[in-house]
Amino acid sequence: MCVFCKIIAGELPSNKIFEDAETLAFLDIKNDYYGHTLVVPKKHCVNILDAENLDAVMRIPVSLSPQPPSRPGEENSASGRKS
Ligand SMILES: [Zn+2]
Repeated sequence: MCVFCKIIAGELPSNKIFEDAETLAFLDIKNDYYGHTLVVPKKHCVNILDAENLDAVMRIPVSLSPQPPSRPGEENSASGRKS
């Protein structure tokens, strides 16, 4: 079992910041950069090309990132929200 699968299974500790049915986001244990977050699929994959649910993984950084301000009446392209 790889280290990420052990974290997902709870066999290794992590500082989880987000979790859903397909993905887990947690802080990098090295803490080299403040807030450096890893987002991994819950289903084991060898590399990014092997990930079956890459779309789900890629949505997480966008949803967790601060959204840029938008002008009143303009659609916010990052979130789809209107301000
Ligand atoms: Zn794994």
